[in-house]
Amino acid sequence: MAYVCEISPGQRVYLENQASQTIITSVNISAGQQQQSTCGFETGSWSELPEIFQTPGGVILKIKTTQGETHIQIQGSSMGIINGSPNLGSYPKIHLEQSDSMPRMQPMQPMQPMQPMKMGDMSMKMNPMSMSMGNMEMRIGLGSDVTKRFCSGCGAAVSPSDRFCSSCGHRLL
Ligand SMILES: [Zn+2]
Repeated sequence: MAYVCEISPGQRVYLENQASQTIITSVNISAGQQQQSTCGFETGSWSELPEIFQTPGGVILKIKTTQGETHIQIQGSSMGIINGSPNLGSYPKIHLEQSDSMPRMQPMQPMQPMQPMKMGDMSMKMNPMSMSMGNMEMRIGLGSDVTKRFCSGCGAAVSPSDRFCSSCGHRLL
């Protein structure tokens, strides 16, 4: 089970106890951009729900485990363990809520096959490739007969680059 608290507008901290580690993820959202940093601390298994205190320099997390108490300071996206036991009695506590899951990076979308595209009166398709602009059309690929020519003398298929028919020697236009 993960827990989340909003420590300031746009900044959330997620907590999760995985085995003997406390995983802390700090998420900052500002100007539409999301920044995320995750740290794991060897704290031991939680014996009770952690507490979060708002202090002038950020927030301090108090984690009680079977191994004792650990205090972790979070300032922006940086976090670290505080040596000793700070006196947190005068600082307000921040409410911690249960969260279904820790935030994860969005998985990469698989590449989509290229869709035919159309821009104004120009359209393009892939495989076989064809392109048309206005009343002009171009095709490249198998099965295309646009590039084939035939001899006007004997009717044999000739290559577009041939100047003379290879069958009858007729001069090609
Ligand atoms: Zn010919």
